[in-house]
Amino acid sequence: MNNFSPNMLKTYISCPKKYYFKYIQNISMPQPASFFEKGKKIHALANYYLRGADISNMINELDDEEKPVWQKLFENEFFKKTYVNSEYNLSCKIGDFWVGGRLDALMQDGNDYFILDYKTGSVPKNPETDFQTMVYLMCADKKLKNYNSLKFVYIDLRNDQNAIIELTTERKKLYEKALTEICKRITEETEYPQKTDSCSFCEYSKLCFMNDY
Ligand code: SF4
Repeated sequence: MNNFSPNMLKTYISCPKKYYFKYIQNISMPQPASFFEKGKKIHALANYYLRGADISNMINELDDEEKPVWQKLFENEFFKKTYVNSEYNLSCKIGDFWVGGRLDALMQDGNDYFILDYKTGSVPKNPETDFQTMVYLMCADKKLKNYNSLKFVYIDLRNDQNAIIELTTERKKLYEKALTEICKRITEETEYPQKTDSCSFCEYSKLCFMNDY
């Protein structure tokens, strides 16, 4: 049975055909390396730092654009909380379906917990209903069980601000319903229709409009 990641759910919503290429046919298309490079370095650095490694050499290798980004993360109030885990794989069962993903970091302040997600690019427009928020909060909720509060914190490194979403009882119900519905829809999908709103940015566009597909 599938373990649905936030990216799988987002891909299906953006275009079922793209989901078909990526997750049913397992076809991966090359993306420009620069697209991910900065984010990758900052994530790796944060992970080493939180795990207690000596990162001085890594900091020296950052370029002039990357150094202030790292500094913003380093000084972020949530990044300074007590470390629990980082690059942390979590999954949980929602209804009949498994969902999961990898958290950038889990921090705590007493019995208050914070899931951190560092963004060098853009933060989701509606973070409280983003699949990443839903999946990570629900998985952490099931893992932690007893806590005072649980929050998802998008650390927006471009604008030096945070978007914070707390898992309330009402949100928990909404998330459970939304995740069950989308997982069911994907599981029952047989046609994988094209959705053409974002074809110009799609790495599968050449493949998609070939007759064989
Ligand atoms: S090119 Fe358009 S229709 Fe085809 S997979 Fe990509 S987004 Fe979907």
